[in-house]
Amino acid sequence: MSFRLTEEQIAIVTAPLAPLRVSAGAGTGKTTTVVLRLKALISEGIEPEAALGITFTNKAAGELGDRLRSEFPDLTADGREIQVTTYHGFAYRLLQEFGALVGVERDTAVIGPAHQRQLIEEGLGSGTYEQLDLTYPKGVIDNAFTLAGQVGDNLLDVESVSEAAPTDDSRDDVWATRLELLSLVGSYTEAKSRLGVVDYADLVGRAHRLVTEHPAIAQRIRDRYRVVLLDEYQDTDPAQRELLRAIFGNGFPITAVGDSDQTIYEWRGASRLNFDGFVRHFPQSDGSDAATLPLTLNRRSDRVILELANRIRGYLHGDRAFDALRPGPEAETGTIETGWLGTRDDEAQWIAEQIGRVHEGGTPWTEIAVLVRKNRDIGPVREALLAAGIPSEVASVGGLLEVPEVAELLAWLRVLDDPSDSTSLARILLGSGYRLGIGDIAALQGWIRRRSRTTDPSPTLLDTIEDVANVEGLSPAGRERLADFRRRYRDLLVEAQSASVADLCRSTLAAMHAWTEIDSMEDHAGLSARLNLYRFLDLVESWTPIVGRPSLNSFLRHLRLLADESAPKELDAVAVSRGPAVAILTVHRAKGLEWDTVAIPSVVDGGFPSRSTAYANPVDKAEYLPYSLRLDTESLPDLSSATTLKERNAILRDYHEAEEWRTAYVAVTRARHRLIITGSHRTPERKRPRSPSPLFVMATELADSTVTSDDPGVIEPPPWKPLGAAPDPLFAESGWDQALRQATDDPGWLTSYPEHAAAAAAAAGQMRLDLESLPEPTSNERKDVKATSVTGLVTLARCPQQFRWAFVDRLPMRPSPALRRGVAFHRKVELHNLGKVPLDDLEESTYDLTAEGDSAAVAGPDPYEVFLASRLANRPARFAEVPIDLQFGNVRVRGRIDAVYEPEPGAWEIVDYKSGRASKDPALDVQLQTYAIAAVDGAVATPAPNRLSVTFAFFGGGEFADRTVEVDDSWLAEARARIDELTDRFDRGGYEPTPSDACGRCDFKTFCEAGRAFLAD
Ligand code: SF4
Repeated sequence: MSFRLTEEQIAIVTAPLAPLRVSAGAGTGKTTTVVLRLKALISEGIEPEAALGITFTNKAAGELGDRLRSEFPDLTADGREIQVTTYHGFAYRLLQEFGALVGVERDTAVIGPAHQRQLIEEGLGSGTYEQLDLTYPKGVIDNAFTLAGQVGDNLLDVESVSEAAPTDDSRDDVWATRLELLSLVGSYTEAKSRLGVVDYADLVGRAHRLVTEHPAIAQRIRDRYRVVLLDEYQDTDPAQRELLRAIFGNGFPITAVGDSDQTIYEWRGASRLNFDGFVRHFPQSDGSDAATLPLTLNRRSDRVILELANRIRGYLHGDRAFDALRPGPEAETGTIETGWLGTRDDEAQWIAEQIGRVHEGGTPWTEIAVLVRKNRDIGPVREALLAAGIPSEVASVGGLLEVPEVAELLAWLRVLDDPSDSTSLARILLGSGYRLGIGDIAALQGWIRRRSRTTDPSPTLLDTIEDVANVEGLSPAGRERLADFRRRYRDLLVEAQSASVADLCRSTLAAMHAWTEIDSMEDHAGLSARLNLYRFLDLVESWTPIVGRPSLNSFLRHLRLLADESAPKELDAVAVSRGPAVAILTVHRAKGLEWDTVAIPSVVDGGFPSRSTAYANPVDKAEYLPYSLRLDTESLPDLSSATTLKERNAILRDYHEAEEWRTAYVAVTRARHRLIITGSHRTPERKRPRSPSPLFVMATELADSTVTSDDPGVIEPPPWKPLGAAPDPLFAESGWDQALRQATDDPGWLTSYPEHAAAAAAAAGQMRLDLESLPEPTSNERKDVKATSVTGLVTLARCPQQFRWAFVDRLPMRPSPALRRGVAFHRKVELHNLGKVPLDDLEESTYDLTAEGDSAAVAGPDPYEVFLASRLANRPARFAEVPIDLQFGNVRVRGRIDAVYEPEPGAWEIVDYKSGRASKDPALDVQLQTYAIAAVDGAVATPAPNRLSVTFAFFGGGEFADRTVEVDDSWLAEARARIDELTDRFDRGGYEPTPSDACGRCDFKTFCEAGRAFLAD
């Protein structure tokens, strides 16, 4: 520890073993203090296993766990650990151990919000409803989802809430609607029990039932621990509080660390009462209130930033005293800049200029972030950064789906899922890949219009492409491009029948030549596009459906939910990679993160703090529980004095505003040294000018510099130029819009256009020839070929049954954070190697990540750091990320080699990077065997090497380890025999289980009898 403990920290570290609340302001080193307290307790004789840390997110739990392991190396070496888990993880563990007592099987699957909505939606079709507005099913699903959450978070069930309904005489429409919503929640509950799954609220509710109905179990858990530390306690909901109380109440030495001013998750159930009321909920053994100790020394932010944070808190607390944040001794003055610009685009451009200047001053891109209150503010900032040559990464689903590369991929996926989606198809055809002229689109439309007269249903845009030979009026280039599109579309359509969504995305990106295009962009734009596509692929890889096969259709439905700005924010699952780019994300996603420089745009009146038009009003809205039924009634606003909706909204507006100011407090305290706060007079959507918000004014009062522009007046939409210059050279005289009108009015007009008509006739003849020579896309020959990946072969070698469920008759698999870490590691290494490899070789983006070596959860230093210190970091790879595609009999095997080094001419070393610790799993060898065969057979590059070695390079656990094999004839013969045997087995389809130690990590062990029997022995 390089700094001295403060008096406040010493008081906490040495506090007696009794209930304690630590009120820790932003950036005050609460994690450090928690670790130090644990250290002190362990040095006083508490066994590490008797200490339990609970925090809110898996990420935070992982970080705290890593921190503890590095603080207690001796314990870690002895295999001893302090347990760290999440609030939900704690409940899950209780149910794993004792869940049978409350009807929960071990390893019951837990479903997230997107799946919850899917099940609610399915229930909607099976009931009859009079009150619910079924013309707007999404609204009904949202409301049932909200109500289900409120019921669970307050330890209630459908029956108990229904019983609270007034009798028929006094029942109003709100209660009538609420009862119908409750019946939908009831169907959802039945669906969960039919499928054997639980949601997060169930986890806590069942665990609470377990410990209250079986006090002996509560006592047993309590006896296991001598001390419990709760982190981010302000984010917990009432049910979580009650679960903890039932076990660790009445004087148990439990410490809650949090900051009630950072409660910004009330919309997802967090209760302010939990932190504020902790001292009463967890009293001392004698019944008196628990003690509270503050942490106020902020070692993160500079002085002026803390001054702004304290002013925000002062505004929040009004007359009530609060513990102001104090700067650390090393704090500098810091900088706040505010800019009030003309238009939103001017504002975004100004932010980009400031960021460029800050970077020139020495701040790396990765230390700069733009935090938006709403997703809609992401687009203008992203575009301005792009225009200014600044790499950026969007870490928020709503914004990510708008990024051009991702939007184009999505358009392809939509057309593959639904051929009638002409909007997406038009986007592809008009986009940079095909650049169809508007005259060609008009020709396609003319064909549709003519066919519509005789065909029912009307043909779609895709039908025109299938019948392109009969479409009159197409330009030769347009016709050629449509033929190209059709060929790629058919290939992808065939692949979509069997490939996973992730594989389909990769193939689609390859068909779009996305990677090649990205590589031809300027560095900053290419890096931004690459990082954003990676974020999207992360989303795809982390998704598994709760029921049914993981189809493209269910993924797109899932995505629609994620993209919905009004959907609950916890659906937003995009991670921040901290790649070499400016991060753009929402404030809510930024909690717990920090950067040197933070820009906050759109700090305008009603924008940030934002003004809601709809409040969680239980008197007028059926989806909210009446306050009297909630466990945190005492902390909720008193609505009893209000007699009208307007009055109730006025009360709720103040309540909502407080949460917005807390969000502002979180936003400004993400910055270490510099805050850039901006707004603008005008946006294209509004006629009226905007004005600075109170937050903007507050920041300006402290700002070192302020830029103010005049109001430029209403932003007029771009003028419609009926006869302006034509972007399509074919209609240079009349302009493309005029040509479109004429072509629509008179389908014969295009063919009478002399240049166009001649070219169209020639292209039509060529197209006919092309058509006749096209093979059938689903010929028998193609169907008979089976395909798998190198990772699939490794799995097959390990256990054919596991291979079957993972790759053939696919079953949902648990998302693996460790595997995702493996992907992140490979991407970092890939970026590291960029510039040292021929860029064309990067077209395929799949990694051969095997379960062993990449998914083993490994603590300790970042494997990328270990890579940088290894012998491989500074060697130029001759090839990197090489796609391979091999045929063994009737089986096609595809994969990707991480790197090929050439230490001397003609001598290759193929290296497979692993983010985990060294492994001796014999199944892994299949990977190197396949790569060696690929190299020797010329599938990597020609000529093949004269000498070859293959290496596993492990970077996990803080140590570099490698295992190299020199390939000779006998090794290669053995390799070929093994791969032949595996591919033959795949071709024959024999998938018997082969239990081994791998069963312990297998996703299917809960229903694999052989695996269960093996594990039970
Ligand atoms: S549990 Fe074991 S035997 Fe069963 S599929 Fe998994 S690895 Fe194979």
